[in-house]
Amino acid sequence: MNMARMRAVTFRAFGAPDVLQVTEVDRPEPGPDDVLVRIDAAGICYHDVLSRGGRIPGKAGRILGHEIAGEIVAAGADVPAARVGEGVVIYQRLFCGTCRYCLSGRQDLCRNSRVLGEQGGGGYAEFACVPARNAIRIPDGVDMTAAALAVCPIGTSVRAALGVAATGPGDTVLVTGAGGGLGLHQIQVAKSVSAHVIAVTSSEDKADVVRKAGADEVIVSHDLKFSAEVWRRTGKQGADAVLENVVTDTFGESLRSCAQNAVVVVLGNIGAKRVEIDPGLVIMRRIRITGSGNATYKDVQMALHLLATGAVKPFIGAVLPFPQVSVGHAMMEQREVTGRVVLQGW
Ligand SMILES: [Zn+2]
Ligand SMILES: [Zn+2]
Repeated sequence: MNMARMRAVTFRAFGAPDVLQVTEVDRPEPGPDDVLVRIDAAGICYHDVLSRGGRIPGKAGRILGHEIAGEIVAAGADVPAARVGEGVVIYQRLFCGTCRYCLSGRQDLCRNSRVLGEQGGGGYAEFACVPARNAIRIPDGVDMTAAALAVCPIGTSVRAALGVAATGPGDTVLVTGAGGGLGLHQIQVAKSVSAHVIAVTSSEDKADVVRKAGADEVIVSHDLKFSAEVWRRTGKQGADAVLENVVTDTFGESLRSCAQNAVVVVLGNIGAKRVEIDPGLVIMRRIRITGSGNATYKDVQMALHLLATGAVKPFIGAVLPFPQVSVGHAMMEQREVTGRVVLQGW
């Protein structure tokens, strides 16, 4: 039997962006519970940039990308045929569905799972094949380019701001690295539940876009000594939640910015360095320090809802055709772009 073929971007060895090359590979065939999705748009995550450079464990030769929107073009025997033609985003984690984490709705914690593009085929291709339950319908009014951001960075922001930090109306949320791809979406997600958002950025250039994302207050802090300013602007109350996208060189100030019983959510590890904490401060203010990562299935649905209602507007820095993926990687590595780089069209 002749296997159908498809175009895909792969890399033979770790290295600079130009290791990414368009090739032809076998098109995956859906099993009984799977759907075949024709990929319309795929986001480039900074995670992909690290993977390509060999800075994250994994093998060369795979198809990267876990931020995928497209259309179901074929369905396995056990999938309702009516799903063919549906516009979907792909929940990026192929989860077991039966472990205690999956059953409690925390597919992000499933230890018997893998993320698309990290093992097996990802988004830098014409097609992807996934279990039908991983294909989440895109609501009306959300285009494919925007939908590609639903899993990550918007879903990731939903997990951190609404899931882990449990932000509610009137809470003061401090966002560090606010001008980055995560920060700009976290601001909007926090505003969607009527929180008061204070954004910190080290760059004057980013202040405008941070304000445009909806931050109530913007602190431009070149020396990253922002806690006194947070203290002043909150009438010495401090922040109820800190979304820490930077950590290296900011963590101490984030702790000092905390209100009583605040939660500090650790998302960033840019410097990959150890940080010091002042236990006295953590005890005195009853600060909770916690990590956050991938969106859950429900977070992705929430992200799509926020896109559909317009509460969150996707920050898209550039749209490039798939064969120019190496250009996109270089732009991200050089930090030449604010917002997501999305691949669309061949
Ligand atoms: Zn991502
Ligand atoms: Zn599981």
